Formats: sequence, structure tokens, C-alpha cells
Amino acid sequence: MMNTPQLDHPLTGPFWKAAARQELQVTWCGACNHAVWYPRANCPDCGDPLHWRALSGEGLLASWCEVAAGLNPNFPTAYTCALVSPVEAPHIRIVMQLANSPAEKALSCDMPGRVRFIPLQQAAGEPYLAPAFEPYHDDDTACDKQLAPG
Ligand SMILES: [Zn+2]
Repeated sequence: MMNTPQLDHPLTGPFWKAAARQELQVTWCGACNHAVWYPRANCPDCGDPLHWRALSGEGLLASWCEVAAGLNPNFPTAYTCALVSPVEAPHIRIVMQLANSPAEKALSCDMPGRVRFIPLQQAAGEPYLAPAFEPYHDDDTACDKQLAPG
């Protein structure tokens, strides 16, 4: 079983190398001018080669679930798994953890927030940085907050 991300993997390595610099990157088609996620070599719409593009890290919480017993026994549980839509690419969903405790704040669909990077470590393996979604805490304006694409 894989213990840590493979930095030299041709499709996923760039994502983890960017995460190590605390930068969220996704594959992007320049011809179609849209994100393609999960990572692939070529655009599913036009066939052009994809390149990696940095995003702002701002996004909306599309959905979430509590993980009480993980599929990979090397990962500690429990945690909250989140589906996040980046503001620059609202048609995609990126899977990541929630950065803070779900008990700390009630969650809602389309709640705005920002990606920050947290260290993850499995039972066997070096720690690495992974994106995690942190909802904004300004409760009064969260529902009305407009996020403009960068
Ligand atoms: Zn394309």
C-alpha cells in the first residue's frame, strides 16, 4: 500500500510538489480555458495537452462527510472529508480534508472558505503537506459573501 504521495508520478506528482510549496494547482486546458480534474494528460473535450495552473485557494464547500473509519488503516481517523469547488473552476470538485473540527462550526453547502495546507502523516511514511478547506468565520456575511474569480 502506498504510504506517501509519489512526487515523480507523471500525473499526480506536480499536484503534490505544488502542495509542498503550499500552492493549490489543477490541470488546465489552455485551448478550452477551463480546469480538468482529476489530473489527465489530455483535455477530454479537445484533446490538447493539459498544463498545471495555480489557483487562489478560495472556493466553496460543495459537500462533506465525516470519516469515522478510513479505508486506509494507516491514516488516523476521524476527520471530515470535503468536496471543494475552486472559485476559478466552479465546475470541478477537489477532495480534501476539512481544516478545522466540524464541531467548531456548523457547515453548510456553498460555504465560502480558503484552502490551507496541513501536514499529514501515515503510520509509516514521511509527513507531507496536503490541502485542507477552512471555511471563513465571519458568520454574519458568509451566506452573502461573493467570491470573484481571480
Ligand atoms: Zn480543451
